[in-house]
Amino acid sequence: MTDEQTTQSNATLPPLEPLIYDLGAPGRKGVNLPDSDVPEARLPEHLVRTGLDLPEVSEMDVVRHFVRLSQFNYSIDTGFYPLGSCTMKYNPKLNEDMARLPGFALAHPLQDTTTVQGALALMYTLQAWLAEISGMAGVSLQPAAGAHGEFAGILMIRAYHIANGEPNRTRIIVPDSAHGTNPATTAMTGLDVVEITSDNNGDVDLDRLREVCDETVAGMMITVPNTLGVFEGHINEIVDIVHGCGGLMYMDGANMNAMLGIAKPGELGFDVMHYNLHKTFSTPHGGGGPGSGPVAANEKLLPFLPGPVATIEEEGDGDIPPLYGLSMPEQSIGRLKAFYGNFGMLVRAFTYIMLHGGPGLKAVTQHAVLNANYIRARLKDSYTMPFERICGHEFVCEGHWTDAEGVHALDVSKRLMDYGFHPPTNYFPLIVPEALLIEPTETESKEACDAFIEAMLTIAKEAKDNPDLLHEAPHKTPVGRVDEVRAAKELVLCCRPIPAVEK
Ligand SMILES: *Cc1c(COP(=O)(O)O)cnc(C)c1O
Repeated sequence: MTDEQTTQSNATLPPLEPLIYDLGAPGRKGVNLPDSDVPEARLPEHLVRTGLDLPEVSEMDVVRHFVRLSQFNYSIDTGFYPLGSCTMKYNPKLNEDMARLPGFALAHPLQDTTTVQGALALMYTLQAWLAEISGMAGVSLQPAAGAHGEFAGILMIRAYHIANGEPNRTRIIVPDSAHGTNPATTAMTGLDVVEITSDNNGDVDLDRLREVCDETVAGMMITVPNTLGVFEGHINEIVDIVHGCGGLMYMDGANMNAMLGIAKPGELGFDVMHYNLHKTFSTPHGGGGPGSGPVAANEKLLPFLPGPVATIEEEGDGDIPPLYGLSMPEQSIGRLKAFYGNFGMLVRAFTYIMLHGGPGLKAVTQHAVLNANYIRARLKDSYTMPFERICGHEFVCEGHWTDAEGVHALDVSKRLMDYGFHPPTNYFPLIVPEALLIEPTETESKEACDAFIEAMLTIAKEAKDNPDLLHEAPHKTPVGRVDEVRAAKELVLCCRPIPAVEK
């Protein structure tokens, strides 16, 4: 290494080069195949490709390459991850142990149901728990993500109106404080989005809502707490107005981390909602694993749930457990996913709920809301807060100052990386300028929250005293500030070093 290389700011991590393609040497081998016990046969000509120029590397070359890459990454196991709306809570390792139990991990989806009774019992129980937590009548575990659950819910609302002879109900009302997936979902189902504005307090504008409610409305999708992190102040009125014109209420439940054991969407009058198990119930996400977005419905929409769902075929008796099976709800919108949802995620969420129990889940929400409000209160003199009110599990502040010209939310986020934190969500929600959406979750200690607050306060000062420090950040990460626009427009999908492209 030259002196120049050793003194660069990134002292702790080796540089990205060389790529694994440069490591190879003819004859190096990472695997040893056992002797073949079947006769050799030639592959069909069209499957044989020469000229692929793959590297020949040893096992150690591969291990070092990938471990090095993993060290460039940031994860919830590395540090504080306040990425608003994503609920990046710590994922307990017990969840992983349970998901790896051979009886769960090795079950085949085409096995006869009599041979997978444990897996079905788990699904049945999880459905019942999620119904209880939401105050709904029933749950389907089919959807593979939050947006997929939304899609299921809106298809169910549509199917309900068609079954009731009202196919002309084709409009879905979506407040501008909704998550972006809400209007996208509506468009995917072929229905029309009617966007309505928020008032100065971050709540839905009720007058505007009354104006748009008529006999063409299929329903309304609303995120609770909304993407501003605040609990809708007029939720009862909203539900009444929409029900009053014959529409149904969809609740985006991705933010249930603010409501566990405190409020039940079913009791608030919602007809259908989805959960994000990968947020609220700690199954890994964001590159760490597939999602799971179960959909919960009240009596009205129960027959329309996607299927199959886990059911009891024969009641148990004393020591004899029930016989579990799978069935399609009567007027089901159908299947949304191969087999039975992302089963491994169901095992993890089941473990998490079982471990916490009712009082434990309520404490999750209380601590999540406390952490968010603590950070909000300590930052409010240094960052503009668009809404002066108690928040739910997250809050939004603005990453710009009148006396720090040219400094943007993005600069604040990039600088946070230098202090060892994952940035908050940037430029979302769209209705707040220079938005920084901060969600600490309940798993962070007071010390972790304090360290983050100190970094945020320091950055607010740096923005005014030394703005270039922010503009050029991050300074300490393996990769510096990337040109995100160019990266999106001139995709480089090859990991082989390519000659620099002229700007
Ligand atoms: C994360 C999120 C979604 C989408 O969930 P995915 O699993 O990413 O599809 C929808 N709504 C809200 C409020 C969210 O936070």
